[in-house]
Amino acid sequence: MSSPTQDIQEILITEEQLKEKVKELGQIITKDYQGKDLVLLGVLKGAIMFMADLSRAIDLPLSIDFMAVSSYGSSTQSSGIVKIIKDHDINIEGKDVLIVEDIIDSGLTLSYLRKTLLERKPRSLKICTILDKPERREADVKVDYCGFKIPDKFVVGYGLDFDEKYRNLPFIGVLKPELYK
Ligand code: 5GP
Ligand code: MG
Ligand code: MG
Repeated sequence: MSSPTQDIQEILITEEQLKEKVKELGQIITKDYQGKDLVLLGVLKGAIMFMADLSRAIDLPLSIDFMAVSSYGSSTQSSGIVKIIKDHDINIEGKDVLIVEDIIDSGLTLSYLRKTLLERKPRSLKICTILDKPERREADVKVDYCGFKIPDKFVVGYGLDFDEKYRNLPFIGVLKPELYK
């Protein structure tokens, strides 16, 4: 029998830790967005698991939308040149938009996305990510809500892929290096 877990060298964040953290973030966001017009804007595909869990941890009326962007570069590194593959459907003008991300690495993708979305005149625009690799930052982006700061390792699971695989792992893990080198 073959399982994606066999390809994992080390579990960085367990399913339990993810659950706890998402609940905590949901409570903080629920407080911060009282009386606002919240739109959760997920970045496909990496943010799908986090979006599904976070949205259910927020006890407020809200809307959910998604964007898909591609950043030119290798599968493990981004270049900062971003193309919108799928735009959001909801008009965000005057709305309180919270970008929901899987991971912020160089910050180049998010920095581009932020600039593009601000031109569309949301009332507010903030960023929520489940993972952050601060060591790798190249663009100056302010992360408003962050789940976990992690070291500079390539991780998969909880929505994050390598070559479109491993998104379904319920934890965040480090791949065995022989699989991507
Ligand atoms: P940035 O523009 O911040 O460098 O890149 C962000 C995107 O790169 C993430 O949304 C994700 O798709 C990808 N990425 C960055 N680090 C990792 C990682 O450790 N694992 C995976 N699977 N993707 C990553
Ligand atoms: Mg992402
Ligand atoms: Mg990817």
